[in-house]
Amino acid sequence: MISEHIFDNTEIAFSLKSDSELERAYFLFKMISIEPLVKIGTAATNFAIKAHLPIEGLIRSTVFDHFCGGVNEVDCLPVIDKMFDKGVSSVLDYSVEGKENDKEFDAAMTTTLKIMDFAKEKKSMPIAVFKPTGFGRLKLFEKIGNGDVLTDKEKEEWQKVVNRFDAICKRGKEHDIEVLIDAEESWMQDASDALVRDMMQKYNTEKPIVFNTLQMYRTDRLDFLKAEHQLAKEKGYFMGFKLVRGAYLEKENERAKEKGYPTPMCKSKLETDTNFDNAVSYILENLNDISLFIGSHNEESSYAAMNLMAKMGLKINDERVWFGQLYGMSDHISFNLASKGYNVAKYIPFGPVKDVMPYLIRRAEENTSVAGQTGRELALLTKEKQRRKLL
Ligand SMILES: Cc1cc2nc3c(=O)[nH]c(=O)nc-3n(C[C@H](O)[C@H](O)[C@H](O)COP(=O)(O)OP(=O)(O)OC[C@H]3O[C@@H](n4cnc5c(N)ncnc54)[C@H](O)[C@@H]3O)c2cc1C
Repeated sequence: MISEHIFDNTEIAFSLKSDSELERAYFLFKMISIEPLVKIGTAATNFAIKAHLPIEGLIRSTVFDHFCGGVNEVDCLPVIDKMFDKGVSSVLDYSVEGKENDKEFDAAMTTTLKIMDFAKEKKSMPIAVFKPTGFGRLKLFEKIGNGDVLTDKEKEEWQKVVNRFDAICKRGKEHDIEVLIDAEESWMQDASDALVRDMMQKYNTEKPIVFNTLQMYRTDRLDFLKAEHQLAKEKGYFMGFKLVRGAYLEKENERAKEKGYPTPMCKSKLETDTNFDNAVSYILENLNDISLFIGSHNEESSYAAMNLMAKMGLKINDERVWFGQLYGMSDHISFNLASKGYNVAKYIPFGPVKDVMPYLIRRAEENTSVAGQTGRELALLTKEKQRRKLL
């Protein structure tokens, strides 16, 4: 068994944080832990941005700088290098959301391609990522997923989405950079899954380059994984999956209730946790066909994966297994895993302040509503402040 305590080492966890950054992180998580404050803060921020009030500076020096690498990819460079010194790789994530036209979709694709060209020369950036709705309208994904008939204009529009997916996956294969494709709301996911399947078949012929994401808060994802595996075996291509629990729980439950269909969500946190760990086991047992990126801040799931890897006699740094966390969160998992030699990458979101607000709001809400996580960050930061004699 792996020691169950490696994540407790706060000296390693926060080795990149100066004293003042440590204090800022503490202040931030303290604020986020107060649910009414997040609700009011979110509403006030949305209003202020729409009203063009000058609050960007304030957002930048607080939430933004904690959770994002900068407003453009160049800003992220110092962070990437510092993290790689500690063995942690970076996945630059162009986190602009809510755009709805071809110009913006093309811009997102071009930015991602630019990052990949840059990453080709950097060992610290072995993985790229994009969000399906960064490349096409959610409503269009939804329409296709529902099997609705498309107008000629929509067909043309969809072809552009397909071309954008293809351009990134092709570049991934050319540069040997793994491409993680995020998962989003369940009502857009079927169309994305079908497209990602095509990309896997096309580009995962020698090794897994294209990775889909499975949100394990969905009751149907383990069966989906097994079915996709079967298909890939029949057709002879490799697979890659990023496993996450899922970020849209409340939205999913609310929509299901409103529209009167059974929620696709697991009934409890425990059910999601079990589902997640079962999917990790399934992939680890089928590593010859499927590579794994574990996107989680959950300590138990991380320990469970490490233990299973040890039990199966896998190398700690087996190139088919990655652990991933988001920048600004769970450094105790990322840096302690890396210090032991595991493959670890952090998503580094970047983009103009006002455009990454939906991402930042999700992080704030997640840290408020998810039992334990903010408390844990605060406890770790307190421990480190004590160790540095800052208290
Ligand atoms: C590297 C990385 C990439 C990510 N990419 C994506 C992505 O592509 N798509 C996406 O949707 N999310 C993504 N996420 C976010 C992720 O889905 C989770 O929201 C977040 O990581 C919290 O889950 P956790 O595993 O860290 O652990 P925990 O904090 O242990 O779990 C919290 C999660 O459990 C689930 N949960 C909580 N309460 C209940 C309940 N009552 N019933 C059922 N389930 C419940 C929810 O999914 C919740 O987010 C990513 C996260 C990381 C670290």
